[in-house]
Amino acid sequence: MSNLANYGFTTTILHNDRQKSIEHGSVHKPVHNAVMYGYSDARELAAVFQGKQSGYRYGRQGNPTVAALEEKISKMEDAVSSICFATGMAAIGAVFQALLRQGDHVVSSVFLFGNTNSVWQTTAQQGIQVSMVDATDVAQVEAALRPETRMVFVETIANPRTQIADLQRIGALCHARGILFVVDNTMTSPYLFRPKAVGAGLVINSLTKSIAGHGNVLGGAISDTGLFDWASYPNIADNFRQQASAMQGMSQIRAKALRDFGASLSPDAAHQIAVGAETLALRMERESANALALATLLQKDERVAVVHYPGLPSHPQHALATELFRAYGALLSFELKPEIDCFDFLQHLKLAIHATHLGDTRTLIIAVAHTIFFEMGPARRAEMGIADSLIRVSVGIEDRDDLLADFSQALNAF
Ligand SMILES: *Cc1c(COP(=O)(O)O)cnc(C)c1O
Repeated sequence: MSNLANYGFTTTILHNDRQKSIEHGSVHKPVHNAVMYGYSDARELAAVFQGKQSGYRYGRQGNPTVAALEEKISKMEDAVSSICFATGMAAIGAVFQALLRQGDHVVSSVFLFGNTNSVWQTTAQQGIQVSMVDATDVAQVEAALRPETRMVFVETIANPRTQIADLQRIGALCHARGILFVVDNTMTSPYLFRPKAVGAGLVINSLTKSIAGHGNVLGGAISDTGLFDWASYPNIADNFRQQASAMQGMSQIRAKALRDFGASLSPDAAHQIAVGAETLALRMERESANALALATLLQKDERVAVVHYPGLPSHPQHALATELFRAYGALLSFELKPEIDCFDFLQHLKLAIHATHLGDTRTLIIAVAHTIFFEMGPARRAEMGIADSLIRVSVGIEDRDDLLADFSQALNAF
């Protein structure tokens, strides 16, 4: 096959594995289940252990099927390298575990995935200060920076209120100050947006969501875009300092987080995620079109008080989303008029599934304050703009008319 450099997003994903020869011409990278790798020459095994020769050692640190997926994700994110983990949270935990030390400071968006919010509470107890700011405004990020700030962490589109971080300006700020910019790209996926374009050094994806797409497998990834200068990062241990500066960050993450804490992605899961990823672009386009149609329907309805969706011109960051993203994504949230109980409404839906998850082929719906953001408590929910009656929808790929009809008939009950 010719070099893939000039092919588009989906062509690249479909044909990436075949860039290297696969036995029997298999069109999928095979699932390699072996935990250990045997060498015919004992010295060769020693050379692999000493980093003088590339090769696999033990399944927790690396596996050929997982490596093929890592390469695919690097292609999607236009990254230098990627590391896969058992879940998205393992990937997020790995960034903190491998790169932060006591006395460090982090600036994080206040609009955050609930479990990431919980991780920040843990790191605060371990002596890492976290400032939570409104990341839709770069001035707030800048005001929170300190000499010991090691990273700025944001999501692209926040769940569930869909606030969009001021990505370009935060990226420029981090670049000017030499601070690592970490972007959780889960809500947009690399098809709608590449954080490298706004200067992110590390990109996180929960593979469980849109990339795998079918609600049947968990996974996560960290990608290094190559834009951050690891030679300037203080927390790199001496043994990783000896490597080329471009590799230092990811080498430390692979050893200190993946190897030492062991949240490795299984080869079977890697295969399933790779198959799901083949249709990422198709699903994102269909989900985004369905979500825009549903958001428009809800906004016009007199029983609905407010709709949050970046594709609506009324959204505060609509212009930014239009400029940065290929489409507006699958996630929307809304509130009904105060006289309608959100649970009474939810009971009338026949198609949308009452479940927590995002980026699935099926439309999923949930009352967030009572479920996924319940643990956070009312004060923190208020800070994130989450009303008690807020309903979140992850829009699927159903036929649009069926989806709209389901919401219409549920609204008509009131
Ligand atoms: C779901 C999600 C995660 C965590 O991913 P898991 O694979 O469920 O561990 C992280 N960030 C965002 C934005 C998410 O939506």
